[in-house]
Amino acid sequence: MAGDWLRRHQRFIRRLQWGIIAVYVTLLVTPTLVPLPDSTAHIWDNITLFSQFVFWGIWWPGVLVSMLLFGRLWCGVMCPEGALSEMASRHGRGRAIPRWIRWPGWPFAAFVITTVYGQMISVYQYPLPAVLILGGSTAAAILTGYLYGRNHRVWCRYLCPVNGVFGLLAKLAPMHYDVDRQNWDNCLPHQGRADTVICAPMVPLRTMQSTSPCHMCGRCAGFRNAIELRPRDLGSEVIETSANTATRWDSWLILCGMIGVASGAFLWSSSPWFVMAKQWMARILVQHDVFWPLEHGLPWWGLTNYPELNDVLTLLDGAILLGYIAVTALVMTLATGLPLAFAARLLSPSWKWRRFHHLVHGLLPIAGCGIILGLSAQTVTILRADGMALGWVSDARMAALALATSWSIHLIWKICGQYNSGSHRSFAILGGVIAVAVCIMPWLLLFWVW
Ligand code: SF4
Repeated sequence: MAGDWLRRHQRFIRRLQWGIIAVYVTLLVTPTLVPLPDSTAHIWDNITLFSQFVFWGIWWPGVLVSMLLFGRLWCGVMCPEGALSEMASRHGRGRAIPRWIRWPGWPFAAFVITTVYGQMISVYQYPLPAVLILGGSTAAAILTGYLYGRNHRVWCRYLCPVNGVFGLLAKLAPMHYDVDRQNWDNCLPHQGRADTVICAPMVPLRTMQSTSPCHMCGRCAGFRNAIELRPRDLGSEVIETSANTATRWDSWLILCGMIGVASGAFLWSSSPWFVMAKQWMARILVQHDVFWPLEHGLPWWGLTNYPELNDVLTLLDGAILLGYIAVTALVMTLATGLPLAFAARLLSPSWKWRRFHHLVHGLLPIAGCGIILGLSAQTVTILRADGMALGWVSDARMAALALATSWSIHLIWKICGQYNSGSHRSFAILGGVIAVAVCIMPWLLLFWVW
């Protein structure tokens, strides 16, 4: 029903997309035309603070939560970047997609690069960095659409920096476009829909197994009497389908990207270890009469540089920031990956990477929860700065972590059951519990210890 509705209202969806594009451009560009806010400004009387609040406080956490509820409906129906890329592709050169674009490591690499660069230039705090990162991504999406593919979303399928994270979180959604292969094969030409379907993110419709690449646009609903939007058991894709689809790049993105790099990126500015490392390094530099890393910075597009607001990162700050994120990513990757490798080994006498990658998918709820909590910390900071009392936030965070923890442990237990139903399953789940406990640590430190 909902899928058919979407299919029949494509014109309405296109208008909606134009409306969202207008809001997106306004919120992105207007703050660059006015002076930076001073300490007396509020979100309701200052466009820069208002757009910061909307982008990072509501938009991004909301989009991530929507992935868990509706799959990638946001991508197919509302994302301004995807819509613009597809429109450009409709009138573009239509070239074949080159091999470098199809490299399966892009979702991991693009996520890490944009996350780290965003921290270096304080993308959450200032308008020009937001234009550079979000606007740059939109420009690249339009250019990719113009050059490659016809009526397709080459950018979204291969290069978008959040494509990988969205695709992984969508695996947890309680609905999907289900393909009945028998109906597909038995459908005669005069039956079912007579039109053709152009799936913008290029999902092979007949063999579609996963919600990860599907943008939930509804265009294929009812095709050959075989495709329908249906509810499914919570986590069923992660428990069953991921056994065949999980890849090493998924594991890199979950362990190193969503858990490791994201923890480092959200924690460094509150971390006493960051301050200690900086003081230690500064002492060594001074002892050796090397002062330039403490005195010089870079332009705003290289490192945060707003002397008028007393917010400048020196070269030393930048180096420690990069080091802090790299060390956090390494420690978190090893501390979550090794217990899961131990679990994968216990489940069967022979080692199989696919089993390890499958177990890593069990961490998706806690990894996604961490990113949502990290982003929503921005919302809370902005609202508190405006004097709002948010005493319930601590309980809400604890509840979210408890829910995600239980969900991840439940998924890992079920995944273990796919390979071993004997006593080894009970030992293997210990590895899962340790990995989940490690994932919670950064958020306990950030919200309750530091
Ligand atoms: S498979 Fe393609 S056409 Fe069908 S809903 Fe998903 S994105 Fe749309």
